[in-house]
Amino acid sequence: MDEFELIRRYFNRDSMIAGADVGIGDDGAVLTPDASKQQVQVIDTLVEGVHFPHATDAADIAYRAVAVNLSDIAAMGAHPRWMTLALTLRNLDEQWVESFASGLFEAADKYGVGLIGGDTTRGPAVTVTVAITGEVEAGEALLRSGAQVGDEIYVTGTLGDAAAGLRTLQADTPDDFLLARFLRPTPRIEAGRALVGSATAAIDVSDGLAGDVSKLLNASGVGAEIDIEKLPLSTAIQARFSITEQQQLALLGGDDYELCFTAAPDVVSGISGITRIGRVTESVGLCCRLNGDVVEVDSSGYRHFQ
Ligand code: ADP
Ligand code: MG
Repeated sequence: MDEFELIRRYFNRDSMIAGADVGIGDDGAVLTPDASKQQVQVIDTLVEGVHFPHATDAADIAYRAVAVNLSDIAAMGAHPRWMTLALTLRNLDEQWVESFASGLFEAADKYGVGLIGGDTTRGPAVTVTVAITGEVEAGEALLRSGAQVGDEIYVTGTLGDAAAGLRTLQADTPDDFLLARFLRPTPRIEAGRALVGSATAAIDVSDGLAGDVSKLLNASGVGAEIDIEKLPLSTAIQARFSITEQQQLALLGGDDYELCFTAAPDVVSGISGITRIGRVTESVGLCCRLNGDVVEVDSSGYRHFQ
């Protein structure tokens, strides 16, 4: 089987994709965007051995590649429309590709994004690049830069699960729920859409809450306080880790793909599945408190501020 047969068999599904006048099969896709919207363009690459363990199931790799891109679309308040895929494979293993395609379309169908093209190459490591185009009401995209002093800080879902899942895997005691939070993150498209017009700033949590909040604060030119004891924790993480480990994972662990956002007090009270974790302040940088006491946070964890 050559590259063209592979694309035809596994990636070129006959179904119509809204707004795509030409999809897979020509030199380029021809798209008709919604004239009243602005487009949001995101791209992310996952490299075998760097972003996922070598033994990861092909369907999970594909699902995750789509989900992490959708998370960026969600953080901008957009809804996803079209996707391209650049796939580098070490060899042409048909079973692997079939599994990969099933995970890809599972995520794509769930969130309503259509595959309109891509590129397929041979190379030294499995490398998956997905790019997604989304749309958002003109002038309404959620940016990192809009946080105002006096805003409250919120997150969606629970924090620390993905990093906790990887730890259980490394310890040879994998926890299915926590591992699924790493392999199949939930892009918060619905929450992002609900925040358009009410959040002042947003970011998705891919590198750990403390680091990602700091990026938002820098972009907005403000500071913040976060109450560590308010960080939302799953039942699964509570069952497997000490309270200190839970809080460190929630604050510093990456790969959760939850949204962190700011909004004026009470504005977002109608949105379900969100937790208020702190407030935007005038002071520079991020101040973390544990039960009121200031703690110093660095990449190795946090310790009480002396
Ligand atoms: P070209 O040589 O013009 O770049 P290709 O032979 O690479 O075209 O690709 C042929 C068609 O198949 C194009 O429409 C391209 O977008 C699509 N395609 C290639 N690889 C993939 C893939 N992995 N997933 C989806 N579409 C793909
Ligand atoms: Mg090509």
